[in-house]
Amino acid sequence: MGKIYLVDVTNRDGVQTAKLGLSKLEKTMINMYLNEIGVFQSEFGFPTTHHETHYLKANLKLAEMGVLKPIRLSGWIRALKEDVETTFKLIPGIEYLNLSTSTSNQMINGKYLGKKTNRDVLKMMTEALDLALAMGAKAVSVNAEDASRTELDFLVEFGLAAKEHGANRLRYCDTLGYENPFTIYESARILAEKVCLPIEMHCHGDLGMAVANSLAGAKGAIDGGQDAYIDTTVNGIGERAGNADLVAILLALLKSKDFANNYHLGHKINLSKAWMIAKFASYAFGVPIAINQPGVGSNAFAHASGIHADGVIKDPANYELYSFEELGRGEPETVETGREIISGQYSGISGFSHIMNKIASDKAITFKDPKEASRILELVRYANVAAQKPLVKDELLFIAQYPEIARELLTMTPLDYTI
Ligand SMILES: [Zn+2]
Repeated sequence: MGKIYLVDVTNRDGVQTAKLGLSKLEKTMINMYLNEIGVFQSEFGFPTTHHETHYLKANLKLAEMGVLKPIRLSGWIRALKEDVETTFKLIPGIEYLNLSTSTSNQMINGKYLGKKTNRDVLKMMTEALDLALAMGAKAVSVNAEDASRTELDFLVEFGLAAKEHGANRLRYCDTLGYENPFTIYESARILAEKVCLPIEMHCHGDLGMAVANSLAGAKGAIDGGQDAYIDTTVNGIGERAGNADLVAILLALLKSKDFANNYHLGHKINLSKAWMIAKFASYAFGVPIAINQPGVGSNAFAHASGIHADGVIKDPANYELYSFEELGRGEPETVETGREIISGQYSGISGFSHIMNKIASDKAITFKDPKEASRILELVRYANVAAQKPLVKDELLFIAQYPEIARELLTMTPLDYTI
């Protein structure tokens, strides 16, 4: 029986959201937390975008060093030969890719304006896929953009062509959040049965059903005899109304009625990191966690009305499906409150040493000499310039532990067109 694997796309779909973004260090911290929580794969960025190059290479180094392990890091590109070529020119070590192309008549006619047919789309996709595998990609997922508005027969043809050319899975993109759980279940099951590839559910929340659709689609793929993958973002941050929220998906998979008895994750999850990653993403994106967000909202375990409060005091299970401890709630704030000595782009050595002594007391961070401390402080200043807000404890520890990686993350060379 097929299993479910999580693919988080915060560092691709999340960061391309209008009005939002992350620094390269913040993106790296998201990858670190995703690895800790046990997510199978992070779609970690855009290999053909020049300002991503240092970040992507630095994160692949972290994977090589065993720091970002076992999480898989995959890049997202258009299913075009020129994108594949640029990818391997800029990021030669990349092993996992998602190749994306539009499949619906709406998109093919509406975006290519009559210049391309379904046959052209198939040709572009298979040529890009052949090239990606020839240039060293170990596994490729082929994304059918706007799959939910695509004729199912054409999707089957698209999936079979991808399979014949060596794709490892088919991403079903409900790009506009058009599906409902009943329709997406059917489509995913039919695709799994007819294409015989794992199906990856990529759902958006325009109709408020991203989490429910992801679960229903995953069930369809598994009932159709294949593994299922579910795309998430932290706090559901994504284009327009957002994507399926990572923590909500985990809770739905593990806690909803009868689901976990019948459908299983293919990897271990450390749910106790849920609180930390949600808090960090909220801080880094500058988007507050909604008061009623599943698991991590400030009201998720709050009880005021007489009957509920009385019930939960007698037995939390009366009014709670899961406990706040399971999600790791109650960790200290990500940045200091009370008296604050915080990192900034104009910080000095005295304040910096105070912060590091305080946060590093439980970790083995010591500086060889004052020169080394100054070097780390310099990197912290640059990280502050990029983030425009105080760094959190884990970011400071990261810079102190991996200064060379941090240097690479903070390097921007916009006028260097020679690479
Ligand atoms: Zn998307």
